[in-house]
Amino acid sequence: MGRVVVITTGGTIATRSGADGVARPTRSGRDLVVGLDSADGVDVIDLLAVDSSRLVPADWDRIGAAITSAVQGGADGVVVTHGTDTLEETALWLDATYSGAVPVVLTGAMRSSDAVEPDGPRNLAEAVSVAASPSTGDLGVLVSFAGTVWQPLGLTKIGERWAGTALGTVTPGTVHLTRPKRRPVIGAASAAIAPRVDVVAVYAGADAVAMDAYTAAGASGLVLEALGAGNVPDAVLHGVQRLCSDGVVVAVSTRVPDATVSARYGPGRALADAGAIMVPTLRPAQARVLMMAALAAGSPVAGVLADWG
Ligand code: ASP
Repeated sequence: MGRVVVITTGGTIATRSGADGVARPTRSGRDLVVGLDSADGVDVIDLLAVDSSRLVPADWDRIGAAITSAVQGGADGVVVTHGTDTLEETALWLDATYSGAVPVVLTGAMRSSDAVEPDGPRNLAEAVSVAASPSTGDLGVLVSFAGTVWQPLGLTKIGERWAGTALGTVTPGTVHLTRPKRRPVIGAASAAIAPRVDVVAVYAGADAVAMDAYTAAGASGLVLEALGAGNVPDAVLHGVQRLCSDGVVVAVSTRVPDATVSARYGPGRALADAGAIMVPTLRPAQARVLMMAALAAGSPVAGVLADWG
């Protein structure tokens, strides 16, 4: 096996429960890799030790920089351990902005390290196998979890499992990929200085107050977590018409898992006519990440969301 570098950021894979019964990420990278059969070929970088709900876009840059320095240091594969709350956001940001040939594999755990049956050790062993596998060269960023290798684009956490595009299976030492990966490389960009993009909840009776507050706070872009196939109440539509004519970029996703968004009802048609961009399948959190990456890289948002949304 080539050299694999494990970069830790925290999350449930690193948690132990305190006397108050609350899980906090207190285990070091060395603690995590100690049980690996292949631990000798693994280097560890303890980068962060936080619940992933606390990560901010600047942390995506820190993780990206740690990956770059691991690759420059000769790593043949990189594993990033990460909490599952925002793993789908970090994974997509990295996939959109990393163009290297060395595979980068995110993993984590659904159960704390001190649970009766922790899933972290097995997930880490599998992620190391994916990172070290010749079959993952040139695939960019992947997610490995509970025996499945996932594409970041379209990945979403549902309860204690993932949904999205499964690329294949993994057991420690064996990787079997059966589907090609869609790799939405947008180009190098800094998340810390990316324009602000917010996600706007839409519901029966919603109005434009939240959208106006976000733009007043500096948002260049908004992703609507719209209703059904991409519909909104009239007050939201009127706000979108006003904001689009002011130059704010508005994209339309939906609060409905598995729904396809398109302008096939009256309110959705009116949104599109106002200049809003329909995002066919990506969930709002990932649509936001792609919009941020496109804005930061100077790429046309409508084109990026048409190609990858
Ligand atoms: N709250 C945890 C985190 O995202 C959840 C997990 O890792 O599963 O850091």
